[in-house]
Amino acid sequence: MEKVIIIRYAEIHLKGKNRGYFERVFSVNLEKSLKGIRHELRRMSGRYLVASFCDEDAEEIESRISRVFGVHSYSRGYLTDSGMESILQAARRVCPKEGTFKVDTHRGDKKYPLTSMQLNAEVGAKLLEENPALTVDVHAPSHYVYLDIRDGGKALVFGTFEEGANGMPVGTSGKGLLLISGGIDSPVAGYMMAKRGMHVEYLHFHSYPYTNEQAKDKVISLARILSRYTGSAELRTVSVTHIQEEIHKTCAAELNVTLLRRFMFRIAERVAGRIGAQCLITGESLGQVASQTIEGMTSSNAVVSLPVLRPLVGFDKEEIIVRAKKIGTFETSVLPYEDCCTVFLPEFPAIKPKLSFIMEEERKLDVEGLVEEALKSVERIVI
Ligand code: ATP
Ligand code: MG
Repeated sequence: MEKVIIIRYAEIHLKGKNRGYFERVFSVNLEKSLKGIRHELRRMSGRYLVASFCDEDAEEIESRISRVFGVHSYSRGYLTDSGMESILQAARRVCPKEGTFKVDTHRGDKKYPLTSMQLNAEVGAKLLEENPALTVDVHAPSHYVYLDIRDGGKALVFGTFEEGANGMPVGTSGKGLLLISGGIDSPVAGYMMAKRGMHVEYLHFHSYPYTNEQAKDKVISLARILSRYTGSAELRTVSVTHIQEEIHKTCAAELNVTLLRRFMFRIAERVAGRIGAQCLITGESLGQVASQTIEGMTSSNAVVSLPVLRPLVGFDKEEIIVRAKKIGTFETSVLPYEDCCTVFLPEFPAIKPKLSFIMEEERKLDVEGLVEEALKSVERIVI
């Protein structure tokens, strides 16, 4: 009998011929997540097992596994041979001494001599006999003893199912560049794309010295929290100070935000090109603020040819906050440091900017020169 953590995977089994590829990426991601902890990761028809770990590391292992996309559920339990005596021995460890319980068998090996019902009955009867304070409740037991009979004369015995992060293994759905501010929304947007298997890289715009070092540190912290789910990546920072000053000096005040956002998208597309990212990702949500109207989004889309993914477009702020709290980014996002968008914020930003007006104002600027200049300020931080 061997102590193991059993990992069941999520959508990967749907991928037909690509299954081998998905499983390889998944196991690499599992290995990466367990870096620095002594363990052995094993494949077992439709399952992964973490074995050879120290008891005191078990909780940390589970916590890391819980953040790996592609994990459907995981359980702490035992691997034994499928002989009745061995199964019973493991079941005794899993089963409490008192309360109500139920044995629940899954028979992956259809050639096993006993049916699931027979196994439930036999193991259940034995546990009852040995523990007088225990009773069976097949409808709402307070404890389960799960038996999973596998091929090759093996069985898994465990007492709980923990829900995993689900989704698809990061790296199986291309690469995206997340425009990350210090706010609540963009980290959640990055999480959602990573959950669909996208490798996420980060880009942040700052307006130093109008914004301070703490604002940048906050974004680094957010990217670090995200990287616990998304794996390691790089954060690039770009200064848009001069661009904001030029817009402020030259163009109609109500277009400040619209024009800045077009610059951000242009710069982001260039950065994406350099690192091989196939799309931009933002935390925009329809109608949330003046620049997030369909007209605003259209005006920023117009300056790039890469697709812009906005996974939060149909979410209410409340829904986004619930997710940010669950992911663990909320506390950091609400720290009070200024984002570059709030510098030079006009009193009445245009809600439905006309493209002809935008173009007219933009012609007053040396767009290409400003973009080139901003790109010279790129700093790279490994997360
Ligand atoms: P967030 O909570 O993500 O800051 P928000 O509700 O404050 O979003 P905006 O400030 O209008 O909305 O930003 C919309 C999106 O534009 C953000 O979700 C982010 O993807 C991108 N963005 C905004 N500011 C920056 C910045 N300083 N650096 C990088 N991306 C930014
Ligand atoms: Mg913001």
